[in-house]
Amino acid sequence: MQNYDLLIERVAKSAGLDKEEVERRVEAKKAKLSGLISKEGAAQIIAAELGISFEDQELKISELMPGMRKANVVGKVINLFPVREFEKNGRSGKVANIIIADDTGNTRVVLWDTNHISLIEDGTIKQDDVVEIRNGATRDNEIHLSGFSEFKKSDKVMGEVQTEKMTSEKTVEEIQQGQSVKIRGTIVQIFQPRFYSVCPECNKKVAQDAEGFSCNEHGKVQPKDRAILNFVLDDGTETVRVVMFSDQINLLIPEEDLKDPEKAIAFRDDLLGTELYVSGNVKRNQFFNNLEIVASGVEKVDVEKLIVELEAKG
Ligand SMILES: [Zn+2]
Repeated sequence: MQNYDLLIERVAKSAGLDKEEVERRVEAKKAKLSGLISKEGAAQIIAAELGISFEDQELKISELMPGMRKANVVGKVINLFPVREFEKNGRSGKVANIIIADDTGNTRVVLWDTNHISLIEDGTIKQDDVVEIRNGATRDNEIHLSGFSEFKKSDKVMGEVQTEKMTSEKTVEEIQQGQSVKIRGTIVQIFQPRFYSVCPECNKKVAQDAEGFSCNEHGKVQPKDRAILNFVLDDGTETVRVVMFSDQINLLIPEEDLKDPEKAIAFRDDLLGTELYVSGNVKRNQFFNNLEIVASGVEKVDVEKLIVELEAKG
């Protein structure tokens, strides 16, 4: 997913063209689509137009592209996360996450099939084992395995692998003050939303005195309320407190709704136990003297949708 050059090389080799020619075609395709797709995306289209399918070949991890339905890779397990159970809309299930690496890169693999998951649970596949994956579906920077995928231990021997994180995705126990990180975890606790008053013009905090509210810049104003929501995220390694302000809250619920106790409780109940991607900056909370993430982005990991998508692909 990261290595565009490798991808171009592979397309060139398979099509019997020079690299330069493939790159020219990629650029032309990108221009034709008004730059709406990435170079990697354009290269995938060019490959398809040339009749090249990557779907039956074994690829290097860096050659994986988003949207593949039959990705085949071999990699060494460099990280195993605890198996998680989830319940969503009356349906319960398990999901396991591992990180595999080869000499070109590493990627998260998400296992949804209980047969695959049991290989991890019973220790058949463990840290440092080499695994073979067939018919994986790539999504964002991950490979998702359904019941239609193959997942097994491989006899291949792998030398040095790329253990350096390819993205800023980290585990909670790895985060350090000042980092910009992306964490994937489950919400295990949600605190009462708090509100503060800001100037309706500049969104800065207002001061309150006997005569009402005033903004440093805009004088007397009728302030509006903005919400802050704190929750605790658990990714299986540790927990971390996350702070969300209006912009992120509004991605999940209109912040106004949090003032309505009934809606606020329903929202909390719905969100508890939900898996989220949270990106943001790691800061030290002076009051609690611990690290927290000030969210700049939140996105639900939509388990139902992933399952439906994977089943549809069978
Ligand atoms: Zn103002």
